[in-house]
Amino acid sequence: MVTVYYEKDAKLDILKKKKIAIIGYGSQGHAHANNLRDSGMDVTVGVRQGGSWEKAKKAGFQVKTPADAAKGADLVMMLLPDETMAGTYREEIAPNLKKGAYLAFAHGFNIHFGQIVPGAEINVFMAAPKGPGHLVRSEYEKGSGVPCLIAVQQDPSGDTKKVALAYAAGIGGGRAGIIETSFREETETDLFGEQVVLCGGLTSLIQAGFETLVEAGYTPEMAYFECLHEVKLIVDLIYEGGISNMRYSISNTAQYGDLTRGPRIVDGRTKDEMKKILNEIQTGEFAREWLLECSVGKPVFNALTRRGEEHSIEEVGKRLRSMMPWMKKKKLVDRSKA
Ligand code: NDP
Ligand code: MG
Repeated sequence: MVTVYYEKDAKLDILKKKKIAIIGYGSQGHAHANNLRDSGMDVTVGVRQGGSWEKAKKAGFQVKTPADAAKGADLVMMLLPDETMAGTYREEIAPNLKKGAYLAFAHGFNIHFGQIVPGAEINVFMAAPKGPGHLVRSEYEKGSGVPCLIAVQQDPSGDTKKVALAYAAGIGGGRAGIIETSFREETETDLFGEQVVLCGGLTSLIQAGFETLVEAGYTPEMAYFECLHEVKLIVDLIYEGGISNMRYSISNTAQYGDLTRGPRIVDGRTKDEMKKILNEIQTGEFAREWLLECSVGKPVFNALTRRGEEHSIEEVGKRLRSMMPWMKKKKLVDRSKA
């Protein structure tokens, strides 16, 4: 059983004396910076000139280049895209990091796969919210929070776990629960979850169901509602009380179909493939493939993203969502803000 920590277990004072530099002002960056500031911390944002520089300025932050923000900072949180982080660390952060500083991450990829190797005098920890940045911010504003993982990789100061707990609580994680893990466990389970279930598995399932109905002559609108729109309604029930809770709520007919047909869709072959994907993650094969893809300008990433955007489910979805005006209110993702 894992230990779960809450707000009462974290001493925020340990952070209030520290100068915090948040490097990056994107999905996670804007959430961490704003939540920590609202928790009474001294926050500077470090970004390159251009896009998010202005956003962070507008939000009232002191904004510097990553190099200048790292200078004199006691704690540096790295919130750039994982594939660009090592370059920025090498060129701008490492030369300016003071001895005994705390270097923090929201995902273990660069440490676990050896892309960033901090000096032995640096404290290294993770504070990884289990949710997208926009939710980390909106839940905090509601007085709530998103559960958060912490891990300590290097601890020359001897108090890195306390700092990690305070950081996780400062971004709101203490209101939902903070769980301790390791860089390895977080990195491998996070990659597996997003590839197999949350992103890869789910999007492929939705598209395959949609295509099957449309190819059989049903209207794309009906196919969209059945295979995409209703996913949220079902997931909300699962989220609230588990799979049994969802089954309690749906009709007996739906439940019988779920119980007897579901295992035919995700069967032994699917699970064998899941094991292969997990092995690619554990051996570093996925990490190497992704880093090489990035080093040549992301040709596969860009081509497949474009192909996804051109799928007919996107077109019909756009049309249908414009007929559901309530969906426009309080959007989780505001592309103009962060
Ligand atoms: P984003 O892609 O949202 O980060 C964008 C920020 O990084 C912007 O400030 C952007 O600046 C800057 N940036 C982008 N490219 C470069 C570059 N080449 N050099 C310098 N700065 C650059 O990142 P996320 O918030 O998604 O991810 C940050 C970390 O959080 C990652 O480690 C990720 O794994 C982790 N994480 C993310 C979650 C999420 O929900 N997104 C969930 C949990 C963890 P500009 O505007 O100038 O481009
Ligand atoms: Mg994840």
